Amino acid sequence: MLSTGSPAIPTPVSDLQIQYTKIFINNEWHESCQERKMAVRNPATGDIICDVEEGDKEDIDKAVASAREAFQLGSPWRRMDASERGRLLNKLADLVERDQLILATMECINSGKLFLMAYFVDLVATIKTLRYYAGWADKIQGKTIPVDGEYFTFTRHEPIGVCGQIIPWNFPLMMFAWKIGPALSCGNTIVIKPAEQTPLTALHMAKLIKEAGFPPGVVNVVPGYGTTAGHAIAHHMGINKIAFTGSTQVGKLIQRAAGESNLKRVTLELGGKNPIIVFADADLESAVQQAHHGLFFNQGQCCLAGSRVFVEEPVYEEFVCRSVELAQRMVLGNPLDLHVEQGPQIDKKQFDKILELVESGKREGATLECGGGPWGQRGYFIQPTVFSNVTDDMRIATEEIFGPVQLVMRFGSLEEAVCRANATQYGLAAGVFTRDISKALTVTSALQAGTVWVNCYNAMSTQCPFGGFKMSGNGRELGEDSLREYTEVKAVTVKISQKNS
Ligand code: ADP
Repeated sequence: MLSTGSPAIPTPVSDLQIQYTKIFINNEWHESCQERKMAVRNPATGDIICDVEEGDKEDIDKAVASAREAFQLGSPWRRMDASERGRLLNKLADLVERDQLILATMECINSGKLFLMAYFVDLVATIKTLRYYAGWADKIQGKTIPVDGEYFTFTRHEPIGVCGQIIPWNFPLMMFAWKIGPALSCGNTIVIKPAEQTPLTALHMAKLIKEAGFPPGVVNVVPGYGTTAGHAIAHHMGINKIAFTGSTQVGKLIQRAAGESNLKRVTLELGGKNPIIVFADADLESAVQQAHHGLFFNQGQCCLAGSRVFVEEPVYEEFVCRSVELAQRMVLGNPLDLHVEQGPQIDKKQFDKILELVESGKREGATLECGGGPWGQRGYFIQPTVFSNVTDDMRIATEEIFGPVQLVMRFGSLEEAVCRANATQYGLAAGVFTRDISKALTVTSALQAGTVWVNCYNAMSTQCPFGGFKMSGNGRELGEDSLREYTEVKAVTVKISQKNS
């Protein structure tokens, strides 16, 4: 058949079967040691999708033992040619591509994210991340170092060992790939815990990991709750490194647990209260659009959501007016429907937290321009909400809302904007909109954030390091920088010879 030239629009799998609901250890499926299960829900309806085995400390112990065994010197994984590690990661990417519709549908049903977003953003990024780190596997090299002539010194970049990885519910599959990609590329073994709300795609990935041919024990997937299974990972003496993505509050517990146990290496990707600064000379239409998507993307459930928009006085009213128009135009509904633009929040807890913060905004005197309440009869939907006349001391301006609530503030000068943008404990991302290149560069260097976007927002790429300043985290994910977080540098010095005799 002749191609029409336009790409086919994917559609969700209509009769999705959930096949993998157990704990994955040593390339086998296990029931939980405590014989407990946890219910997994669809946030669009609140209905239970299935029950999944609930891992706890004993299951984590089993998974760590399996990962330690796989990391033993002389094991198939340790003996493997580095290029072969890359081939396995590429094979895994092929299998994800094969199952792209299944995984996108599953992600949509389990996390409430829009099906088309899951397909074109999360799945595409997952595949790209696996391929990117596949490419690095045989290029992680040390150096030779000039020292005293009697010695020969070189460095080896060795895997750290068993990595505990704890991931959140807002990008379940993409976070899975961000975590396992660099860890496997560098030759580590893994015990990974998906968020209790969203274990389904992680368990499907476990099946694909086995199918790709990774040796037993290299990746172990243990679903469970944070205070039990997550706590056990953070405190485990057999885990050499922990990578965590989630709230700043739990990030502090993880760092403390590392200190109290074996000083495991810690990388943290935490919250944000990210500023977007819009100058009066910016392309206003584009700035409004970018700020809108920068906040409402994924129902506002994004650590890098642009949740504080500072707009220069002369264009403030116009900016608010256009932002409200965009928010009011959004179509809410079942995230499987292709025309829907905003799905539900992940669960009742988040739903209640967001609505409580919205109430605090009203009480503290911000102007509610639109939204501000729940939407629909079922599920955890919240109306797209815009507040204007927000001041920096209000709770909505200081606390991470993690929901579809945009805040627009006004500013008078560049210095004022930068000072207020930086007046937060967070430092994950920031945006600046202006046509003046020197203004853009001045602000860029003054902002305290791991990522700064100029005349764009949310422009992520696998090759680019991502992480936070201040209480937004520790270390970097993605890009070449991530490899440093998954290797130890060993300096080897060899005495050349005693004498020329
Ligand atoms: P949120 O509040 O958005 O759910 P969390 O930081 O609580 O974010 O959760 C992110 C991840 O951290 C999840 O996988 C969760 O199970 C895990 N987690 C929560 N509490 C702890 C804890 N005390 N120790 C280890 N992991 C935890």
